[in-house]
Amino acid sequence: MSEGTAKKEEKPRKFQAIRGTRDLLPPETALWNRVEQAAHEAFATFGFGEIRLPIFEPTDLFVRAVGGETDIVSKEMYTFVERPEELELLPSISDLDVFLQKVRQFYKSGEIPPDNLALELVENQLKKVNDSLAGISNRESRDRDIYELIMLFGALRLGNDISLRPEATASVCRAYIEHGMQQLPQPVKLYCMGPMFRRERPQKGRYRQFYQIDAEVLEATRLDAAKDTSKELANDAAVDAEVIEMVMTFFDRLELQGVQLEINSIGCRECRPKYVELLRAALLKVKDKLGPDSQRRIETNPLRVLDSKLESEQPIIATLPHIADHLCEACAKHYSAVKRQLEMRGVIYRENWRLVRGLDYYMRTTFEITAKGLGSQNAVCGGGRYDGLVELLGGPPTKGIGFAIGEDRLILSLQESGKAPAQQGRDVYIAWMGERAHATAIRAAKDLRKAGFSVELPPVEQKFGKALGQADKLGAKYALILGDNEVSEGLWTLKTLADGSQAKYTEPDLLDHLRKSKRVSS
Ligand code: AMP
Repeated sequence: MSEGTAKKEEKPRKFQAIRGTRDLLPPETALWNRVEQAAHEAFATFGFGEIRLPIFEPTDLFVRAVGGETDIVSKEMYTFVERPEELELLPSISDLDVFLQKVRQFYKSGEIPPDNLALELVENQLKKVNDSLAGISNRESRDRDIYELIMLFGALRLGNDISLRPEATASVCRAYIEHGMQQLPQPVKLYCMGPMFRRERPQKGRYRQFYQIDAEVLEATRLDAAKDTSKELANDAAVDAEVIEMVMTFFDRLELQGVQLEINSIGCRECRPKYVELLRAALLKVKDKLGPDSQRRIETNPLRVLDSKLESEQPIIATLPHIADHLCEACAKHYSAVKRQLEMRGVIYRENWRLVRGLDYYMRTTFEITAKGLGSQNAVCGGGRYDGLVELLGGPPTKGIGFAIGEDRLILSLQESGKAPAQQGRDVYIAWMGERAHATAIRAAKDLRKAGFSVELPPVEQKFGKALGQADKLGAKYALILGDNEVSEGLWTLKTLADGSQAKYTEPDLLDHLRKSKRVSS
């Protein structure tokens, strides 16, 4: 190796954020905080309480809730295996029998979901390997046996399957069940915010770690509900409309531009399967004119064909039957009640019969909200009703409706329309000179910060010119000048950097003056 290459190798690797993830930096983070604060405030006025959830959950929770066939679960989740600590080390062949005994114990105690068949295969293969190691078998067959043992061992389940959450509704439902929230006054209104993870192809407005603000209303299904279905339908429609009203109010507060709400009903377990069959039959008739993705979806999920953005498919899709014409009586009643309720609340909507959404759990109401300045990824919020999901996850019969706002896109849209806050400059830069002044400067900084001012206190003495230059760079409003004279006179000099004017104040007067001028400017 030449000296040159050795030097090159010494250079430490430069790390970068992983593709699809990113750092959020100031001053942009100030906008994130403002948006989140507005959500806390707006949602509280509708009686929602915050829930904070784990970032990872058992993979099965998402398989069951979101659906094993969906893109999210089938190819986009970040999944890993968490082994019990005692199984961390990779065993050598000579320790393998002890290791396998431990695995069997974990199966028994339920710490690892049992896969007895796979374990038996490994145990049998180990016996074979041990026999051949002790016996006279030729080297080639011994190697083959060992190779097979390694393969079988590699396939053994040694821990729990865990996934980073790709969405929040499943976790909210899990928490509702786990904490017996059906005992609380119904409905239970919860919201949360935080990162979600999906291995999608990154582009503007689409990330692998992205942030959602999520709200859910869960309500135990009344046992006597069947007695008065029309009252139940009216109840649900009002809840749906209020949830939509809440998110629209929130966007309104943020002055989000170009907000468009689209709604649809995708029916229920009764009527949707019949519509799906009708749709499939209609699609089969025009199969040749569709692209390969849509052709495949005729079999797997015909509703998703309606989602297609392919230009050439648009005229064909326009001729397909609309679900609104095929809703059962209850769904039709519910849908018209939702529309009436939205009108009563002054919420402007557009019906979009093609709005089906990608998650399995939705029924009846679905909605999506788009905003300005986002290009092709312009959906800032999606939501819908999901009665029955809690039950599917082992809980009591429960109704649900919720939405997820894509916070990254919301922020992007606000920035595009010039709603981003400017970099916040300091209020006061303390230009101190001399040891005596240093002590006074430290005390002044403490008092000013206590009073809520943002203060920059240089750690070492600076020449006057440099101090003012720094103050300017940091966007400070004032420079507080503290030198020996100021300290002995008890009169401090305050320089207003915008116009260069200067005045002297006693310590209490200075605080008073700054307070007053802050009130005027805010
Ligand atoms: P969903 O959970 O798929 O219904 O999505 C709800 C909202 O989350 C969407 O309308 C988007 O605003 C946002 N969203 C979903 N996936 C991503 C992503 N990969 N990157 C950024 N935002 C996303």
